[in-house]
Amino acid sequence: MRMKYKALFIDIDDTLLDYVPCCREAFEAAMPEHPEYFDTFFRISGRLFSEAKHGKHTIAEVMELYPQEFIATIGYPAEAVEPFKHAFREAWGKTHTLVEGAEETLNALRDRGYRLFAASNSFGHLQRSRLRYASILHYFEDTYISMDIGYDKPDIRFYEEALRRCGLQPSEVLMVGDSLTTDIIGAANAGLDTCFFARREPDERSCSTYVIKELNQLLQII
Ligand SMILES: [Mg+2]
Repeated sequence: MRMKYKALFIDIDDTLLDYVPCCREAFEAAMPEHPEYFDTFFRISGRLFSEAKHGKHTIAEVMELYPQEFIATIGYPAEAVEPFKHAFREAWGKTHTLVEGAEETLNALRDRGYRLFAASNSFGHLQRSRLRYASILHYFEDTYISMDIGYDKPDIRFYEEALRRCGLQPSEVLMVGDSLTTDIIGAANAGLDTCFFARREPDERSCSTYVIKELNQLLQII
């Protein structure tokens, strides 16, 4: 069978790794005395990451802002920010709850001969660590992570730099991800076909080349 694409760029959080349980696990490791504060933490970090999707902050800025705002909100002294931030990141780098079907889908895609690249907004060393803990890092020829690339998705320059690094044309790559803003619109603006994994966000078929509800449905469309 002739392959329509040579490669896939695949988002990590909420595409391959389940973001909420990972986030809760890292939070509880960083603040074991108050696991009940997780909802407050998640609301603050969620709002800041959402603002970043729309260009209000860079991902690097959000990584500094959310520990500061969370610690201030719960009334801890400012000196608690750095220890909390470091404890959270250390724990985060080990979190690796897989989305259902992730490993089987990667395995089948590799067997079919697709080149696979991770494409994520975060710290490179932490995302690679998490993929390694999840035993799926070996499926990827390379990892394109915003802090290494120098631009955050959906910036078209993130996708242009990723394409430059793997030596492929936009028409040769399918971007797969769960975020309409960062993954789908960003990649479409860079000229890639897209596959929207409608896991949490509503199905907006119009702006994505393909839409799937389960990760393994990828295998039916390419
Ligand atoms: Mg995602």
